[in-house]
Parts: sequence; C-alpha cells; structure tokens
Amino acid sequence: MQAYTKLKENRQGLRDIIPLPKPFTLVVEPSSLCNFKCTMCFQSTSSSRYFADNRRNMPFELYENIIRQIKDWDGGKFKVMKLSLYGEPFLNPRFCDMLALASNSYIAERIETTSNVSLLTPYMSRRLITGKLDYLRVSVYSPDQDKHERITGSNIKVGVIHENLRVLQAIKREMDSKTPFVAVKMLDAYSDENERFREMYSDVADEVYIDKPHNWVGSEEKSFTRSLYGGDNPNFHTDMQSQDNGQYACGQSFYILSVRSNGDIAPCCVDYAGGTNVGNINDTSLKEIWQGEPMRHFWTTQLSNNKHQNPSCRNCEIYRSSYYSRDNVDGVSIERLL
Ligand code: SF4
Repeated sequence: MQAYTKLKENRQGLRDIIPLPKPFTLVVEPSSLCNFKCTMCFQSTSSSRYFADNRRNMPFELYENIIRQIKDWDGGKFKVMKLSLYGEPFLNPRFCDMLALASNSYIAERIETTSNVSLLTPYMSRRLITGKLDYLRVSVYSPDQDKHERITGSNIKVGVIHENLRVLQAIKREMDSKTPFVAVKMLDAYSDENERFREMYSDVADEVYIDKPHNWVGSEEKSFTRSLYGGDNPNFHTDMQSQDNGQYACGQSFYILSVRSNGDIAPCCVDYAGGTNVGNINDTSLKEIWQGEPMRHFWTTQLSNNKHQNPSCRNCEIYRSSYYSRDNVDGVSIERLL
C-alpha cells in the first residue's frame, strides 16, 4: 500500500487527455452533517443558505441509484471513489453498508474516506476492513486538548481519537489486513506543535503528515484561515505566496465529479456553497451530466479564463495553489471540448 501523499505525486497529467470520457475520481457524500464545528470550516458559519438548507445524511435509496448508474456507465473503473465530502461520513448510520456495496460493485480501483474518527467503534473498524476500505484519511486538529476544543467546538478527548485508531490498528493485525491504510494529518501550525502531533500519532498511523489550510470558495462572513490562526499568520502567508502557480484554469473540474447528499452534482470537492452544481442525479444520470452541455459550458468558462462568472469559482483559491492543484490546463484549446 502506497503512502497517501505519494498517491498525489503519481497521478496522470491532464493537459493532453482532456476531456476525459469518464472522471478519474467520483466523490459521494454520505453526510453533510458534522459533529465538529471547526473554526476554519464552513460547518461553523451560516454564510451559505444552500449549505444550511441541504444538511442531511444521504438516503440509502439515493446511494443505490448512484451505484446502479455507475455500473451502467461503460469505460472501466474510476481510479478512486471517495466516500466523504463536506461532512463527517460516519454520522450516516449506513456508512458501512455504502462501503460494502461500492466494493462489491467493483466500480473503483481504490476506495477512500476522510473522517475525524471520533465516532469510530470496534464494530465499524471490522466493517471498514471487511468492506475493503483502501484509505482512511484522518483529520486531527491538535495534539493539545484545549486547542482541539477551541478549533472543533467539541469536547471529545484527543485521547479518544488516538484510542479509536489504536483499536483499528489492533483489529487490522488480528484480521491480518493491511487496509485501510491510515493517513493522519493536521493543518500546519507553523510551530513545534507539528512535531508533537507527529509523535503522538506515529504509533497508530501508517503515515502522519502536515496539511495546508485554505479558504474554500470564500465567505463574506469570515476568513477561514485567519480564524484558524487567530489572525494573519505571516508564515502561512509566505507559504501560500510560494505556492501561487499563476494559473487561471482549474484542473480539478476536468477529472472530478461529486455527488452531494441531496443528489446535486458538482465538478469539484471544495464548493460547499453549491455555485458549481451542474445537475441532480434524480433528474439526470451521472454519465449524461459528465457528457452534457452544462458541464461543457463550465469547462469552457475555465479554459477561456471566464471562471469569475461562476459565484463559487470567483473567490476560490484552490486552482491557484500548486499544493492543491498539480495540473496545468491553461491554454488547452476550447475546440477540444466540441
Ligand atoms: S475553481 Fe474552485 S470552486 Fe471552481 S471548480 Fe475549481 S476548485 Fe471548484
């Protein structure tokens, strides 16, 4: 099993192969609810009416419809299926059934999820293994209890998170399973807290790494990164400047399709506000959406440097960061989309 961070480096370049007949990555949102209200997350704001009005667990019938549609879509497996998006996936009581159905349907080369694991039980750990989850990406917010509480708005003990992972690794050994590969990450604290985090989790993780925060698609209410750092952080600022790729087109939209818990579909995984929605799975199939006119129009605005026309893309920072965006599709001819 490869380290989670290595997967990102080994990816195929997009510029010579778009438009893809089928996305590389399918994201499905088991739940847009969360038991944490992290200060650098839209879960802590009310700035998006759309997000507030659509917080729910995905009904299992809707999920079965997604799987049916994927099985009917020719063109081979997705490279990856992510069973998580804007909420804590383990809040959906049918999460393990969703995982099992995906792996038994052989629709993706790899299945991943991201969780804070505060709700992970021994029973669920066993089902993650039997359900063939390949990667579990774990979001940790601090090794320190007081900071963890301040960031997440939750009084769940950091020791519980560590213990849940210890039990998962013990069950993996007992069941002689190498999966799920457990990658534990924390947002860069630009301090010795990073090292304390690494030390705390190195015995229960297969990989420990430092991630970078971002401002999602922006918010009129607050800056998410300033909320995380309690004001402007000069180290973070310098870091972001060094990663500015100067590009105008967003590569993400050319290889990802996300299905939200209400069935809405978008070509990226940061637009919690719904401005990039290109359809709903209850009205149009995934294949029709990927090959349809709204999707092509969206790509055209990207390649023609007109993405500011989209309310979510307008203030998004993801496409400009070499940390989050490894593809450069600037200058690809719009004719190719025709
Ligand atoms: S620019 Fe941002 S909001 Fe728009 S598709 Fe790309 S990642 Fe999503």
